[in-house]
Amino acid sequence: MKRKDSLEIIRFGTCSKDCYGSCVFKGYWNDKALEHKFLFAVPSKDHPFTNGFFCPKLKRRENLVYHQERLKTPLIRSGPKSENIFKKISLKEAINLIVVKIKKIQKSNNATSILGAFYAGNSGIISQYAPLRFFENLGATITSGGICNEGGCAGLKELFGTYSITNPFQIMNPSTKLIVIWGSNLSESNNHAYYLVKKALKSGTKLVVVDSRHTLIAQKAHLFLHIFPGTEHLLVKLTINELIAYHAHDEDFLNSYVESYSTIFQEVAKIDKEKLLRQIGIDLQTFQNFVELLIKFKHQTLFNIGYGVQKDYFGGKIVKSITLIQTILGNIGKPGTGVVYSQSDFIKPLLQPLQEYITNIKGESKMTEIPIIKLGSFLSSGKYKMLFVYNFNPASSLPNQNLLRRALLREDLFVIVLDMFFNETTKYADIVIPAKFDLESYDLISPYYIPGLSINNGGPCPYQDCLSNYEFFQQLAWGISLENTQIFHESEETIFKNSVRMLPSNIQEDLNSKGYYLLFGNDSVPFNDLKFPTPNKRIQAIGPHFKFGEKELKRKVNMKKNEFLLISPSHLYFLHSQLGQLNQRYLNEFNKIFLTSEDIETIDLEIGGKVHVSNEYGSGIYILTESPILKPRTALIYSGLSSTSHESPNVNYFVPDKPEELGFSGAYNSAIVKIKKLDS
Ligand code: SF4
Repeated sequence: MKRKDSLEIIRFGTCSKDCYGSCVFKGYWNDKALEHKFLFAVPSKDHPFTNGFFCPKLKRRENLVYHQERLKTPLIRSGPKSENIFKKISLKEAINLIVVKIKKIQKSNNATSILGAFYAGNSGIISQYAPLRFFENLGATITSGGICNEGGCAGLKELFGTYSITNPFQIMNPSTKLIVIWGSNLSESNNHAYYLVKKALKSGTKLVVVDSRHTLIAQKAHLFLHIFPGTEHLLVKLTINELIAYHAHDEDFLNSYVESYSTIFQEVAKIDKEKLLRQIGIDLQTFQNFVELLIKFKHQTLFNIGYGVQKDYFGGKIVKSITLIQTILGNIGKPGTGVVYSQSDFIKPLLQPLQEYITNIKGESKMTEIPIIKLGSFLSSGKYKMLFVYNFNPASSLPNQNLLRRALLREDLFVIVLDMFFNETTKYADIVIPAKFDLESYDLISPYYIPGLSINNGGPCPYQDCLSNYEFFQQLAWGISLENTQIFHESEETIFKNSVRMLPSNIQEDLNSKGYYLLFGNDSVPFNDLKFPTPNKRIQAIGPHFKFGEKELKRKVNMKKNEFLLISPSHLYFLHSQLGQLNQRYLNEFNKIFLTSEDIETIDLEIGGKVHVSNEYGSGIYILTESPILKPRTALIYSGLSSTSHESPNVNYFVPDKPEELGFSGAYNSAIVKIKKLDS
């Protein structure tokens, strides 16, 4: 921290929103100001991913921090559940009420009926994990797993023993001559990687995009494969068959580094090319152009796989199969090759001791865990009496909203939500505690798309009742007489400083002087020794690789005339359901269901008319809107918010809570819906 002039103090910060960017910045503060202490943020120019700019969604974070609708005092319910009707209470009263409830549960020896539900709404590791000190002490239940990329990570881990194979700086490696962006709408959801890809294109790198939507980046591609959602593995099967037919596979690489690779050859040996092309939804020429580019740029091709492709019941297997193209070609462990997915596994060895310290859990934990994706069905059981929610808006983000919301209405469930604004979940809260913003707390951020660490040097919060996650649970710990436990004497700042001190000195220096540390330089190539963290250090290509999802594919092929596969990407301007206030002016976008104009004509409906959308999980009324970017038989409703109209519920009302099978994440793109004229 350094003082620029008499008023301004500069603190390093990181945008902790659950986003690919994890933008690093310098925050300018006036600590003496009564309210608007945080003045503005300047994105780091020297950070090779932030590159001196924020996304348009969070350019002016100072407006959000002091937004007039920010929650500033604790609230207690004064109206029916499912509405945000509360009255103010003091922080002391709120803490006392919660403490009394906890003590009662403790007396009945039923601490596992206290459930902590959290995710990465604030991706700081102290914000996410320091509250576990409290839950561990109680012997409570917590949620585990996730709703995002866990399926793909599990699939890649089966092959490589890790899901971090290479880093996004390879996009700019001079050896990269072809980039394949597979299922990732970079131009909208990852604009820092998009910036790097555009730079690479300027220097002559070729670009292929494989996607079920004709996105902006697809328009910039040299070749675009517009495929049906959920057919990625069929395209891989077809591609590998063709590569082998051209003898383009890298036999030396396969023999030396890949276990059981013959299983891939066996599975792709017999194919019906025409049928596969029909199922995938592309023509022969486009496919052949793809294969030609892969052959031309063998050992010079980088894949970037988005998280949308794994939001399927078989998402992990789909991601794993895509990676087989790179494996067959020997495009692993060389400059300008590999697969960019999640970076989190690279940093894990460094973080593990910190996490043990932050949670105060070494070895076996006393807590019980339930998968977050099944929160609705666990709450429905009636076992849970208290629910704490932080860094998470489950009544927006989780599938099968009808089931979840019914469970949240249970009379015997006392719900406490810690958040910055009213949202879908606060509608079910008994008590709401106002939360601090990320830049008002001390934290370490370990990004999932950038290999490294960065920090938030917390600045002052002008509202005395706003608490960080740790501060809230620390007060509860004191309230239920856990105050003698030494760990709750530590302040958040102390936990942060001790965590930084546990890191090697070069990392500490970088964090203190620049606000971030990167694990790799621009030219470092992970796994260039081709030794992977598997039992025999080889890539484990143990089949079957493509035999899955046949029943689901058949169901999609046999959809009735008015049935459509529903996909739910996030809207360009949607940031985060916990920060709903930012997105108000786009709320009308969430009233719409998008179809191709041909499909609208086929089912004899009118553009702009209201339609009834339903499946076995939910129903609602939406405005039928034409989209030129979709594949036929695909419908799109944007995810994130509920619309302005009560009749058009959040898209997750239609999504099954049956999880993805390998990583137990959400199968958000697996729902089939019926669309009918409203009057029928
Ligand atoms: S939301 Fe993402 S891209 Fe936007 S400022 Fe935050 S980290 Fe950066």
